[in-house]
Amino acid sequence: MVDRAARATDLADLDAAVSDCFACSRLVDWREEVARTRRAAFRDQRYWGRPVPGFGASDARIAILGLAPAAHGGNRTGRIFTGDRSGDVLFAALHRAGLANQATSVAIDDGLTLRDTRIFSAVRCAPPDNKPTPQERDNCAPWLHREVTLIRPTLRVVVALGAFAWAAWWPTLRQVYGLRPPSPRPAFTHGAHWSGTAVPDLLGCYHVSQQNTFTGRLTPGMLDDVFARAKQLAGVD
Ligand code: SF4
Repeated sequence: MVDRAARATDLADLDAAVSDCFACSRLVDWREEVARTRRAAFRDQRYWGRPVPGFGASDARIAILGLAPAAHGGNRTGRIFTGDRSGDVLFAALHRAGLANQATSVAIDDGLTLRDTRIFSAVRCAPPDNKPTPQERDNCAPWLHREVTLIRPTLRVVVALGAFAWAAWWPTLRQVYGLRPPSPRPAFTHGAHWSGTAVPDLLGCYHVSQQNTFTGRLTPGMLDDVFARAKQLAGVD
């Protein structure tokens, strides 16, 4: 799997390769079981049930790094943050920021496009209870590292959604940029900003999960501030 990720020549090749990954037996079982049993509301749909590739511009200056696909969102539709409440909040914010052509993301063929932005997750398969293990995170890291390598020429800012994504970013500095990550690692907080030399800036943002958005811990205004900051740092109009 590590070799296959490293051999991916472009994003289309990477997307095809990651979609065919079976490296984590627990996650393979879970993603396929969810796809078989389905939620009642989606009983008539055919679930994707495989790893979910990144989505967005190949010349992105802003990357949004999430945790993992949702069982009945990305694992159902085949596109990250698509078909779930987290995606509703995220894409509405990206649309307000002028980074998405529409405010909704409901299906892989719904016409959504992103400008200057690419979205991917640290773990590419839906995990039980949205909780991947450290081993599963490490298994999946080569896909993340290759994706960042492929957009490295334009990438300027990474927005980490939540502490898991924030922590998953640091090994990328070594694997993609050949730099030693800071020690100790900067702590994750909403609005945290870390910058280094010749590497993308890192912004922390609470995850767009219902747990945060339904409780008001993360508001639309807070997301607007994060994306305004990301655009400013990335030089996006
Ligand atoms: S989580 Fe990543 S490494 Fe594990 S099976 Fe899915 S795509 Fe492969």
